Order: sequence, then C-alpha cells, then structure tokens
Amino acid sequence: MSGGDQLDFEIRPNPAPVSAADRAALLANPGFGRVFTDHMVTVRYADGKGWYDARVEARAPIPMDPASAVLHYAQEIFEGMKAYRAVDGGVTLFRPEANAARLAASARRMAMPELPAQAFLDSLHRLVEIDREWIPDGEDGSLYLRPFMFASEVFLGVRPANEYLYCVIASPVGAYFSGGVKPVTVWVSPDYTRAAPGGTGAAKCGGNYAASLVAQAEAIEAGCDQVVFLDAVERRFVDELGGMNVFFVYSDNTVVTPPLNGSILPGITRESVLTLAAEAGHRVEERPVSFADWQADAASGRLREVFACGTAAVITPIGEVRFPDGQFAIGGGGAGEVTMALRQQLVDLQRGKVADPHGWVHRL
Ligand code: PMP
Repeated sequence: MSGGDQLDFEIRPNPAPVSAADRAALLANPGFGRVFTDHMVTVRYADGKGWYDARVEARAPIPMDPASAVLHYAQEIFEGMKAYRAVDGGVTLFRPEANAARLAASARRMAMPELPAQAFLDSLHRLVEIDREWIPDGEDGSLYLRPFMFASEVFLGVRPANEYLYCVIASPVGAYFSGGVKPVTVWVSPDYTRAAPGGTGAAKCGGNYAASLVAQAEAIEAGCDQVVFLDAVERRFVDELGGMNVFFVYSDNTVVTPPLNGSILPGITRESVLTLAAEAGHRVEERPVSFADWQADAASGRLREVFACGTAAVITPIGEVRFPDGQFAIGGGGAGEVTMALRQQLVDLQRGKVADPHGWVHRL
C-alpha cells in the first residue's frame, strides 16, 4: 500500500488487444459471460506485507501451483456488478461502494483479508477506463465486472491462508435470460437447500454456488430458468433464487421480500428496490413468506406479481412456479405492472437517464 487505503496501480497496456473490427463483432451478440475484455486487474496480498503489486495488465491465464489453498478448501469470494453506457455517452457504475462493503463482509466470513473500499473502487475505475470501448451500447447491454479474491498460498494445512490474489475481469453482456424481459419459470427445490443458519449464505463465496448447481440442474431439467431455495430448517419459507432475490407484490399495494436472515445474499438490487418501491407509494415489508402462502395467495388472486432481482437479471417477472407435485401461475403469467415500472425506474437510474437523489450512480 502506498499509504492510506490507496493502491498505486501499475498500468501495463495489452500489447496485442483485440482489433476494433473483431471487438465490434463480439459486441454485436455477446451473450452472458463468454466474451472478455483486453485487460484485468491483479493485486497480491501477504500477511505482514498487506496489499501490494497492484496492476492493470493484459488478461491472461493465472499460473497456479497445484497445492494452492483455494483448489482444496475453496477460500474464494467474488462480486458482480455492471458498468453502463449512460445516455450522454458517459459511463456509470451503480452503488459500487455497496459491492465494496459486501466483498469486505464476505472476506470476514471466509477468514480472508479485507480489501479497502478505496482500493476496490480504484480497481474498477482503472479497468473500466482502459477497456471502456468494450461497453456495449443499447438498453440491454453492459460491461459485467467480476472482482474476485482467492487463497493463493501453496499449503495443504486446513487454516486461513496467508497469501491471496485479488483480480477483476470484465465481460460485455447482453440480456441475462435469453428471452429478454419476459416472465421466467422457477423450480422450488424439494431436496436441496442453499444455506443453513450459521453458514455462509450471506457471503458471496464460490462454495455457495457449487452447492446450488445440482438444484439448478434439476430446475433446468424441469423446464425452469432458476431454482428457488426454501429455508434449511423448516423447508417452509422462501429464501431466494440461485442467483437473485425475490419480491412479492400483493393486491393491497404491499411489496414483500424475505428478510436478511443470515442465509440470504444481501442483494444490492434488493436493497435498491426496497427504497424505490417505498418511494413509489407501496407499503414495503421485509418478512418471511412461506411456500404454502405463495401458492394460496396466487390461487386467490391476492398475490398479483412476483419478480426476481439482481445485477445480472435486473428485475425479471416470475410467471410460473413448478415443484414436484404441481405448478401454478402468478397473475395470469404475464409481466406485472408494478414489476415493469420498478424495472424501468432502476434501468433509467443506472443509465443516468433520471435524477439520482440517493447518490447511487458513480460517473466515470
Ligand atoms: N442472491 C444471490 C444468490 C446472488 O448470487 C445474487 C447476485 N449477486 C443476488 C442475490 C442479487 O444480488 P445483487 O442485487 O447485489 O446482484
């Protein structure tokens, strides 16, 4: 560290970047998570030395010893966020300090060192600056940023490692669900839970996702887009989706999402939606929702809309719910009015189209 919480990034531009023509072809249809920019950020950490050797350099494979601790005990955390092309041609980030805080919280849970917030913000700015030509145009396009950190110490003992590597890579993306904004179908997993009390559910660690994949595969097999996890104790209450938080909209103007119970990832979109929904005049509640009530309220019509939210999916309506014993639709299965209004408001904020009274939008 060069003093305070700041890092001096050494910038080593990629000597062989993708040509403008090839980049344009890739950006025409980037999909999700398959196309990457020319650069990456790397910063090393060692006990006693702190954070050092901060670089922006050509994106390249990371050489790794087979005894690197992460390969054995999965000490790994990550973040996910987007850089948007603003309507005025500038670039915006949405609440990046919230991602910095969540990365630090994940680090504490996984017995890893905390990257100072300023170093985190600088790492994003540096990468977006050097790769800004990779930000797609258009309503659905954005540059997905993936900061991550893992135990790089070469040691097989089971204890917190004393060396780590922090990286940021960037990937231009289109819409997350290939159908664009149309209602998705979800699968309520009967067998698998995602996170138990006292576990790592509130941390964004790779292991949580590893544990969710078999349930997600089951969802796909059942013709669904995403899995819904119920709580691990009673298997009664809705926790969240594989990679998104969930909201319920009722006919009495109430908007409800499950509380942060330690097992749910504290989504930044979730927190933003709570604020935006309250400002739009809805009664907002964080309280448990049982799967039985979900079903009964959908049948009675009291439940009007359900949507998933997260950085990747933004706000996506849930039209149908499947589980081993059956299925049911929500509000006729279409995209709800409240869902789409909240989505539009969020997208407009993220892209700098409307005033930002909360100071959520960072401009680069
Ligand atoms: N829950 C899970 C399990 C997730 O992976 C994500 C995506 N980060 C979310 C919720 C939504 O979080 P955010 O709104 O911060 O993207």
